[in-house]
Amino acid sequence: MNRMIRCAHCGRRILSNPRLKQQRYCSQQACQRARKTRWQREKMATDLDYQLNQCDCRNDWNTRNPGYWRRYRSRHPDYVNRNRLLQRGRDRRRRDLAKMDALAEISPVKPGSYYLIPARGNLAKMDALSQKVYLIPTGCTDLAKKDSIDSLTTVP
Ligand SMILES: [Zn+2]
Repeated sequence: MNRMIRCAHCGRRILSNPRLKQQRYCSQQACQRARKTRWQREKMATDLDYQLNQCDCRNDWNTRNPGYWRRYRSRHPDYVNRNRLLQRGRDRRRRDLAKMDALAEISPVKPGSYYLIPARGNLAKMDALSQKVYLIPTGCTDLAKKDSIDSLTTVP
């Protein structure tokens, strides 16, 4: 039986194909391309064999087409600029991460899971509250926003 679904790419409401149990995309070319891109991205992240095979294919193709990327970059300066900006952002994030690692080495408090117990009172009667502790260096606000930390609680 057909049911209405909303395409995960274009957002259009469509009648689903009854042969596809978990259809999430419509049949438009751009949406099918987005579906394949997503599938490939997940496959690259989870399947080591697929990742190695893709790497071999890329290397073979580059061997058969020497100088292709050099010519492509010279003909597409916008691509070069965009790539340069994105790489700069990746480098900056990597530098910030490296700084966090350095902080963890000198700080007596290590990131991890801790039981928080009130400082006063009878220890046997108290329930320990399990909490994760993250160290966030000052001036590293964008990393804190991207992480899974929803709220920060300060303990006096
Ligand atoms: Zn669509």
